Amino acid sequence: MTKIKSFVFSPFSENTYVLYDDTLEAVIIDPGCLSQAEKLELKDFIVENKLNVKALLLTHAHLDHVFGAAFIKRTFNVNIYLHDLDLPILADVENRCKTWGIPGYEPVEADKSLNEGEIFRFGKTELEVIHVPGHAPGHVAFICRNSSFIIGGDCLFHRSVGRTDFPFCSQEQLIHSIQTKFFTLPDEYTVYAGHMQPTTIGDEKKHNPFLK
Ligand SMILES: [Zn+2]
Repeated sequence: MTKIKSFVFSPFSENTYVLYDDTLEAVIIDPGCLSQAEKLELKDFIVENKLNVKALLLTHAHLDHVFGAAFIKRTFNVNIYLHDLDLPILADVENRCKTWGIPGYEPVEADKSLNEGEIFRFGKTELEVIHVPGHAPGHVAFICRNSSFIIGGDCLFHRSVGRTDFPFCSQEQLIHSIQTKFFTLPDEYTVYAGHMQPTTIGDEKKHNPFLK
């Protein structure tokens, strides 16, 4: 079984995830920790549980998902993985933080690419990478088949979907990604999204007002 620890960080209430299994190997996904206290909370969890962080994975590069990326990269000496189509968004985060008046962001670059259909392995865990554009052009999600969940980023939320009023977004692409990639998973799969509480594929198929 792959375990999940989630944190809610920053004024954006962003969900940061740590995935690990009984080998104690781990990955961090979307580190939205912005304040020093949030960064230490995440680091303390890793240290206290004796986890061996193997990589930092990004579903996409919007600012609220990468606030703590430089800190994690430096602290755990890991590579950052991101889909190439979101590289320009990551490069623009410093500017956007200035525009929004958000202090404390440390710029960072990605090290490795994530691509549709790849399997990312750590410990005994396999994560299948799927490309799900719409909310961001290089948005990916991570399917964990042995534990029946998906780390979905800002695509499919509890009774909602990701915003598409930012630059480089497409509502049509987002709905297509959800219908063809998320909704082909079994109903019992849990969706851990970038914001709000977890949900399931079956629940959202039935009740999500944006996908009727
Ligand atoms: Zn986003």
